[in-house]
Amino acid sequence: MSYLNQISELTEKSNNKSLTITYVKNWLNKNWGLYLNTVDNYRCSQFILPCMCCTRGNDCLFIDIYKTLSKHLEKNNDIEGKIQLLKIELAEYNSIANDLEKTKKWLKRNLEKGLDTDSEYYATPIKSFSFLNGRDPYVKFLNENDSNYARIKINFDNENDFEILYEFYNLFNMLFFEKKILPNEYEKFKSDINKYFE
Ligand SMILES: [Zn+2]
Repeated sequence: MSYLNQISELTEKSNNKSLTITYVKNWLNKNWGLYLNTVDNYRCSQFILPCMCCTRGNDCLFIDIYKTLSKHLEKNNDIEGKIQLLKIELAEYNSIANDLEKTKKWLKRNLEKGLDTDSEYYATPIKSFSFLNGRDPYVKFLNENDSNYARIKINFDNENDFEILYEFYNLFNMLFFEKKILPNEYEKFKSDINKYFE
């Protein structure tokens, strides 16, 4: 099995249409052996990825892609569980939307979910990953030429999943940040953020 074949299988397919999670899962399974044989001993194994090689070896690119996609799948596993919970919470909200006290309780219960970083990670349904595939790294900064990158786009298996996330975070942000129906929690959030940047 050659690294380049395995990589171009992803990039070429991803050129036409974003890949599904299931497709990526199968690709990772299929390439598990190749990954194990390579991971301790490839051209850039002593560097932190992504390396800045002028000419990047396909083994190095393969490992970078494999690790990045594995991480994304892990993240996606977590989010799938979360989406199931959000579905229930959204239905619950719809039945209490006219009751401010109940809405406050609802928001309090969902505070942690609403303020975590998933909303940034999943700001769009399609996650796009770019891997510099070698050449002079300086060229990259002057001219983002497509040919210097291996690009892989991944979508949710189920398009409704993104809609649920979108609906939940929209609702959460409207109640918490715009209407500020939990003023104490809102002030605490703001001061925590400020401490973080001090
Ligand atoms: Zn490298």
